[in-house]
Amino acid sequence: MSKDTKNWRQQTQLVRGGTNRSPFGETSEALYLTSGYVYDSAEQAEARFKGENEGFIYSRFGNPTVAMFEERMALLEGMPCARATATGMAGVTAAMLCHLSTGDHVVASRALFGSCRYVIEDLLPRFGIESTLVDGRDLDAWAAAMRSNTKTLFLETPSNPTLEIVDIKAVADIAHANGARLVVDNVFATPILQQPYKLGADVVVYSATKHIDGQGRCLGGVVLCEEDFLKDHLQQFLRQTGPSLSPFNAWVMLKSLETLDLRIHAHAKGALDVANAIAEHKNVSRVLYPGRSDHPQFELANRQMTEGGSVVAFDIKGGKESAFRTANAFNLIDISNNLGDAKSLITHPETTTHQRLTAEARAELGIGSGLMRLSVGLEDPLDIIEDLNQALDKA
Ligand SMILES: *Cc1c(COP(=O)(O)O)cnc(C)c1O
Repeated sequence: MSKDTKNWRQQTQLVRGGTNRSPFGETSEALYLTSGYVYDSAEQAEARFKGENEGFIYSRFGNPTVAMFEERMALLEGMPCARATATGMAGVTAAMLCHLSTGDHVVASRALFGSCRYVIEDLLPRFGIESTLVDGRDLDAWAAAMRSNTKTLFLETPSNPTLEIVDIKAVADIAHANGARLVVDNVFATPILQQPYKLGADVVVYSATKHIDGQGRCLGGVVLCEEDFLKDHLQQFLRQTGPSLSPFNAWVMLKSLETLDLRIHAHAKGALDVANAIAEHKNVSRVLYPGRSDHPQFELANRQMTEGGSVVAFDIKGGKESAFRTANAFNLIDISNNLGDAKSLITHPETTTHQRLTAEARAELGIGSGLMRLSVGLEDPLDIIEDLNQALDKA
């Protein structure tokens, strides 16, 4: 990749970054649906395994279509390295397990995607890696949780489902002052609205299943990092444990990236309109959206994100019964726990995504019986608003 292409702006990287054409000169990126590769000679095979000859060996650890997707992600994020994984959770798990060992300590914000919270709270401690969960909004809590063996800090911002904002730069500073790393799950913001690496994060992870695919088709994940982290930790872990992204899914993601910027701005514009409309409804007691000035951390959200994102959370008066009556009355919006789709999707976190948590843990996170999480899709916002209003009338 020449210097010039590295300087392309984000929108150009989304369309062209990492493109590696075959001798056929195809316009669109090629799909290399192959598990293995053949060699010209036994000598070439030997050289390739020794690392003396560049080229692919086996698709568990390298494939031309997957490599194009990884290169495009690295260029658009402005980070040196990217590795794709089969799912977002495979990426989060690899980003943690690849470098942590028994005796290490992790600090994380407690407002996490359910499976991320399982990895930090349940899985790591089984292997002697201790973890402390803190209120991510409270910088003193992060600092107080640091120990001499704290290796890694982990956070998600905006968080799922209550859209809490964590100050990435301040937490990165706390990590680095203690010789620790910061890993950021940037799923809700996407690289279009927030770039954690520029704010000091060391590792950035995505579920590509969400806005990167954006059309609800394929699972996928990405881990972005610097060369040392890749070489010392991530590369070997992925190569030997094999949570690889399928070339087919990588091809879908690669093509989806071409429209990511257009889609994310449309999602965010729609979400703001929808949030403003919901706030006016008599059966709604609270709206949480990082792009609205009544968000409790609007100033911070405004500083580290360029727009509020695609997800809106709101409390319906009357608790679970009212929330269910509303959900069952939608004509357009679908009941689904996925998010970042072109279709508007709504879920009731208490009884679905956050059912596993204790009532106390849910209360700490502000997940009440009337809370709904709406992923605003790419339909006309006026149709989404009409559907919300008629369903909320029945709450
Ligand atoms: C969905 C999600 C994940 C997990 O991604 P999968 O692709 O479903 O494995 C991780 N973090 C956040 C914030 C998510 O929304």
